[in-house]
Amino acid sequence: MAKIQAIRGMHDILMQDTPRWQYLEESINSILKQYAYQEIRLPIVEKTELFKRSIGDNTDIVSKEMYSFDDRNETSLTLRPEGTAGCVRAGIEHGLFHNQTQRLWYIGPMFRHERPQKGRQRQFHQIGVEAFGFTGPDIDAEQILMCDRIWKILNLSDISLEINSLGTSDSRANYRKILVDYFSSNKDKLDDDSLVRLEQNPLRILDSKNPDMRDLINESPTLEEHLDSESADHFAGLKEILDGAGVEYKVNPRLVRGLDYYGKTVFEWITTQLGAQGTVCAGGRYDGLVEHHGATPTPAVGFAMGLERLLELTDVSKMPDKQSPHVYLILSGEQATERGVLLAEQLRDQLPNLRVLTHCGGGSLKSQFKKADKSGAKLALVLAEDEITQNQVSIKFLRADTPQTVIKWPEIANFLRTSLSF
Ligand code: ATP
Ligand code: MG
Repeated sequence: MAKIQAIRGMHDILMQDTPRWQYLEESINSILKQYAYQEIRLPIVEKTELFKRSIGDNTDIVSKEMYSFDDRNETSLTLRPEGTAGCVRAGIEHGLFHNQTQRLWYIGPMFRHERPQKGRQRQFHQIGVEAFGFTGPDIDAEQILMCDRIWKILNLSDISLEINSLGTSDSRANYRKILVDYFSSNKDKLDDDSLVRLEQNPLRILDSKNPDMRDLINESPTLEEHLDSESADHFAGLKEILDGAGVEYKVNPRLVRGLDYYGKTVFEWITTQLGAQGTVCAGGRYDGLVEHHGATPTPAVGFAMGLERLLELTDVSKMPDKQSPHVYLILSGEQATERGVLLAEQLRDQLPNLRVLTHCGGGSLKSQFKKADKSGAKLALVLAEDEITQNQVSIKFLRADTPQTVIKWPEIANFLRTSLSF
């Protein structure tokens, strides 16, 4: 019978890799806490309509990347391709935007039916941040500074910031016409993707990753020249705070975001180390989205970072070893099995940070020592008949030349505290 395998582009994260994930998540989490953002947990499946309405029919995500299926009652459901739509839905549903501001974050898997390659999966993971109820550029800056701090705590240096302003919907509509004129008069130079975008979502042509399109895009008119004054002021305010905080950035007048709901500030954090999949974090302002869902207009700004791409950049050698046990408890003889469980429990009571791996399943001392060695533990504690009659354990140092020693039971915790420098 053919073996059943995981779905293409959806990966198991095996136990040797989860410590890296935990390290990444805990590091980011510590920064989110510094800014007093609160975690929100949302369903992985939502009504398809939510994404269509939030992200826009003409985006890559909605037009070709969604995992949609009919529920048993024939409602179309979709595995979430991003987190903002669900967050907005939940905020409206629970009245979180009414006369109050919110600073929220979420973490979890997202699903997009894309061509799998390095840095591009069909199930991938994001940490996202959204703030609701703030109009000024101060909150945009706060989120950018937060990202900057995250890169610092992760020791990532090759990440640069690009910012742009997409203006209000009026100035975008104006600009859209100008762009359509420009690209229509260069139709022969457009690739197939861009021809479709020209009809449906011309701004997205600027987002093309086709190198053959570069020159044409680089010469296109920019929104900068047609920006309304409200957005220009907002953008200037953002730059002023970033300058004051010493955050470097490049204004990229052709930076647009793939989703329809962005306006005013947009930004991306980009690395040169991941080839074509160089955007590790992206976000911006989406003041119109809450209103677009029929609720009271609520300004909003947010971003999402791709955890697979960040992990790829993180230097594993700098990570603390949080996986190996400190102590491997070797047990020999029937009595030792029972005594050993109790001893391990006692140690966990006394030293809550100690990682004790109790040998289960018997076997010779020799085979148990082999396993102890393989486990990465620093110490092996041996409990055999002799040790039990004398209320002690033998201690063997697995990673040092220190000679073997014996310790009385009441003294073990103290001994471990010193030798493991707890
Ligand atoms: P890209 O241009 O690379 O397709 P995007 O604009 O579609 O990215 P967003 O929707 O802004 O991406 O998502 C934010 C971040 O999530 C991206 O910057 C990236 O780090 C990550 N990301 C998006 N799609 C994927 C994917 N298929 N696999 C892995 N990470 C992804
Ligand atoms: Mg994409």
